[in-house]
Amino acid sequence: MQKHNFSAGPCILPKEVMKKASEAVVELEESGLSLIEISHRSDAFVEIMETARSLALELLGLTGKGYKALFLQGGASMQFLMVAYNLLESKAGYLNTGTWSLKAIKEAKLYGEVLEVASSQEQNFNHIPKNYVVPQGLDYLHVTSNNTIFGTQLKSFPKVDCPLVCDMSSDIFSRQLDFSKFDLIYAGAQKNMGPAGATLVVVKEDILGKVSRQVPSMLNYQTHISKDSMFNTPPVFAVYVSMLTLQWLKDFGGIAAIEEINTKKANLIYSEIDLNPVFSGFAAKEDRSVMNATFTITDDTLKDLFDAKCMEAGINGIKGHRSVGGYRASMYNALSLDSVGVLVDIMSDLERKG
Ligand SMILES: *Cc1c(COP(=O)(O)O)cnc(C)c1O
Repeated sequence: MQKHNFSAGPCILPKEVMKKASEAVVELEESGLSLIEISHRSDAFVEIMETARSLALELLGLTGKGYKALFLQGGASMQFLMVAYNLLESKAGYLNTGTWSLKAIKEAKLYGEVLEVASSQEQNFNHIPKNYVVPQGLDYLHVTSNNTIFGTQLKSFPKVDCPLVCDMSSDIFSRQLDFSKFDLIYAGAQKNMGPAGATLVVVKEDILGKVSRQVPSMLNYQTHISKDSMFNTPPVFAVYVSMLTLQWLKDFGGIAAIEEINTKKANLIYSEIDLNPVFSGFAAKEDRSVMNATFTITDDTLKDLFDAKCMEAGINGIKGHRSVGGYRASMYNALSLDSVGVLVDIMSDLERKG
């Protein structure tokens, strides 16, 4: 049966990527060997790594602009720590917009002073703070572009005179931005790029090497840059699948082309949420995420029916995160407009029953 996969992460990847990836596990391009049994120093894998790194920069429009792309391990959660370790000398600013921001703040506090420039925590992160002032003289400002759990997204980014660091785990490669405004971008692969196990870091080289502490080799961006992201054995499968997804996106027409569909998907579900009294959106309208739509059901007596209809239709992964409750429909790049249509049809059907 066809499934419609709205899982928040790990999540849907393009079918053709999955097929190629599974073939490469058996045999990589008629080499007689599996992708996961060859040396990461082999010509074949070095080429995969280089292609993945250059595709990432190309899709973001950052080729030749002083940035390096790295595929590291430890997830986005490791970046909470690495960012501070490499960049925090005395004081950094953090925009507190959700669970992931909070976790990043916790790690940074181990290495220096953290200033929360603004927070929406008191309203359970249902919106993005606005009209706050970012003081001068920070080592960097850290923001989370898309709050996966709460379904909010930054539509614009603060102008700052310090390096701008962004956790883009759940919306990288989904919308056009001027990525050169950022000095460091990181994203766990498992939300728009590949399987869990690799984390993309795109860093502007000239912001590094400025802290006075000793940075352990594995935690030092400069180590990984100097070794072309091969300081130690990289997560070969995750890098390969990421490369395939980036290639798929490029062939699709790049970020501009996917953004158009992502916008249609989001408009479809949000207009249903807005018009249908059975459902109520969680996030403030102007901050709603194009990737993760969070909503609740207003009439509890219809909940079982809705769940059953979703199950029947092959809809997977729309249960909301425990800190928000209700539902969350994650609509990453590989999810089709048709899949959103299937969900929206069930939602509008429910209104007639209610
Ligand atoms: C999922 C997620 C993370 C955590 O990623 P891990 O790879 O599991 O460490 C961090 N930030 C955001 C915005 C996320 O969506």
